[in-house]
Amino acid sequence: MFHYPMINKSDITAVEAVLRSGALAAGGTYTQKNARLIAQFCGVPFVAMTHSCTQALQIAVRLSGITEGDEVIVPTYSFPSAGNAVLLAGGVPVFCNVSRQSLSLRLKDLKPAISARTKAVIVVHYAGICEDIDEIVNYCRAKGIVVIEDAAQAYGARYKGKALGSYGDFGCFSFHQTKNETAGEGGALLLNQSVVHLKQRVEFWIDKGTNRAAFLRGEQAYYAWQSLGTSGGASELAMALLYSQMQRRQSMLARRAVQAEAYRQFFERLGDMSLSWFQGFDKAIGENNYHLFYIVFQTVQQADKFIAYMANREITVARHFVPLHLSPFGRQIGRCCVNDSYFETIFGRLVRLPLHAALSEQQFASIMAALADYWSKM
Ligand SMILES: *Cc1c(COP(=O)(O)O)cnc(C)c1O
Repeated sequence: MFHYPMINKSDITAVEAVLRSGALAAGGTYTQKNARLIAQFCGVPFVAMTHSCTQALQIAVRLSGITEGDEVIVPTYSFPSAGNAVLLAGGVPVFCNVSRQSLSLRLKDLKPAISARTKAVIVVHYAGICEDIDEIVNYCRAKGIVVIEDAAQAYGARYKGKALGSYGDFGCFSFHQTKNETAGEGGALLLNQSVVHLKQRVEFWIDKGTNRAAFLRGEQAYYAWQSLGTSGGASELAMALLYSQMQRRQSMLARRAVQAEAYRQFFERLGDMSLSWFQGFDKAIGENNYHLFYIVFQTVQQADKFIAYMANREITVARHFVPLHLSPFGRQIGRCCVNDSYFETIFGRLVRLPLHAALSEQQFASIMAALADYWSKM
């Protein structure tokens, strides 16, 4: 099982109670509870729960004032959500390099992609890791460039003691089935102090352009269409599941940490020259949320061989992102500033290993045994 959500009895009880209550739509008690919990954890003044990180990114881009022809810098090694958000607002995504080692965006990757039309940058914390988000934020603030964090994979991770997702003007989390804590589908949009004045507009965006949120709080006698909006909220069923998961975030994280540490030690001892990189969970990079563990082979053939071997042992390992500038759609749109050929083969060479709280000790032991056997045959 490459990934499986860890669902327990308290999750089921929480969801069942919502089902029995009849209050299933967005904007309910659990939406508020999650928003409060995340705002407190991240130390930001406002959080809105959404039905996905993709939706949170779309709203963040809109509220950054992106219009026709404005450029938004997007690291090429990321998920299409960031690119879609820019295009849906009429903007132009500008794809840029990332670090070969962490696959995250650094200030030195960002600078060459900036033009007179640059309005914002979407920083993606791949694997819950970042390199110099503080320097990126300082630099962009001085230049009047909005910083949006795609922290989809990063809930719970910290850099220099500060939560990822809380550095930029906007932060976006995902609680998709595949993330550390899940709502099935879910997300959050964080507003930092610099943009907290936009919170009413976030509420309009989420609730079909209406002031229904204020109405539900008893601040308005009725609600009506106020501005452009969409349906962005998360079902109470999903939010109950997420809140239940959040209560045992630490114990789930501890299980991931044990697995990640075992992988790290294995590859460190191995010192295999066919691996150009393995993710070391470098403490210097910050406090990890152990979202995923990957290794990068030097050639695509080596990766193919490893994947086939593991499949034979009934262990699924997985490739990940096709860099956006090389994807079928990414080749047709935007502006490309990627000049590092390293990324031309990254899709073929990067392999993720199973890492999740629902892996039993026995399953994990069989994965470790398969890794040891594979490399003893090399
Ligand atoms: C998972 C993911 C998303 C999408 O999250 P959804 O909640 O499914 O919309 C966006 N960006 C990155 C980097 C992701 O890993």
